[in-house]
Amino acid sequence: MIKRLTIIGVGLIGGSLARILKQKGYCHEVVGCGRDVAHLKKAQELGVIDRFTQSVVEAVSGADMVVVAVPLGAMESCFSAMVGHLAADAVITDVGSAKGAVIAAARRTFGQLPAGFVPGHPIAGTEKSGVDASFAELYQGRRVILTPLAESAPEAVAKTRAMWEQAGAHVDEMAAAEHDETLAATSHLPQLLAYSLVNTLINRDESEAIFHSAGSGFRDTTRLAASDPVMWRDIALANKTAILAAIDDYSKTVAQLRETIQKGDGTMLERSFNRARDARIKFMNDIKN
Ligand code: NAP
Repeated sequence: MIKRLTIIGVGLIGGSLARILKQKGYCHEVVGCGRDVAHLKKAQELGVIDRFTQSVVEAVSGADMVVVAVPLGAMESCFSAMVGHLAADAVITDVGSAKGAVIAAARRTFGQLPAGFVPGHPIAGTEKSGVDASFAELYQGRRVILTPLAESAPEAVAKTRAMWEQAGAHVDEMAAAEHDETLAATSHLPQLLAYSLVNTLINRDESEAIFHSAGSGFRDTTRLAASDPVMWRDIALANKTAILAAIDDYSKTVAQLRETIQKGDGTMLERSFNRARDARIKFMNDIKN
């Protein structure tokens, strides 16, 4: 059980976590913190949080669980504001989509990392943002990756794990570097490709006509391009090395595809498409089972 849960950044990710934990009766009180009073009032009206403050210091005081759910670029200033104000036994976790950068920001800020610090990342989300978009079922059956550090106390890791399990998630642990490489390939690259695909079409003279005639394939492939640009700007910068490696890999595949089409090598094209189709079908079946 959590006595006082503080959510810094009551948007899609933080708001959804607060909703499910309140619904389960897993915390006595939820305190929300953010910059905009209107957003926080809305969160309170929706029953996502019990009370709010714009002060990080006030928000973390007396909290036994602090979840930092702001964009990656704002993590460091949030950590900085809580230095010296955390309860001795407080657990601090985050939801940032790139772990190396969050850990580096925490090291710069705290110096000696608190034993309660347990970095994390829920592999769940939508292309929407803000508390209005949050919903209690977001984490049901989804994965949450924790990247505990040598400094993280086992009890803090266990408490963070238990919180996400209450939210319906399966919790895995891995090293931050492994997380960042994996997510660069499976999440960050597809997102950046969606933006690039739309930008490629916008750049064409006849783009309006193209968009007009686009069908469901275009809609499905570019769904992610409706996501929050600030969040993705921060992720692209925070996970730069791994993302550049993923883009290089992808560029090689596209270059190969181009060459195969240019050669008119139908056998090779079919083999390559079959491989991709089989892998995609297997992936979907594995998710269902
Ligand atoms: P969101 O819906 O836009 O929520 C972000 C929240 O942070 C807002 O409530 C915002 O409220 C607050 N905020 C922004 N800057 C702040 C600052 N400087 N200080 C305090 N609060 C601030 O975004 P989200 O989708 O929940 O993403 C939050 C985090 O989750 C990001 O780090 C992202 O990498 C990670 N994540 C996202 C997804 C996804 O699919 N969306 C999935 C997994 C992880 P105010 O504007 O009122 O301050």
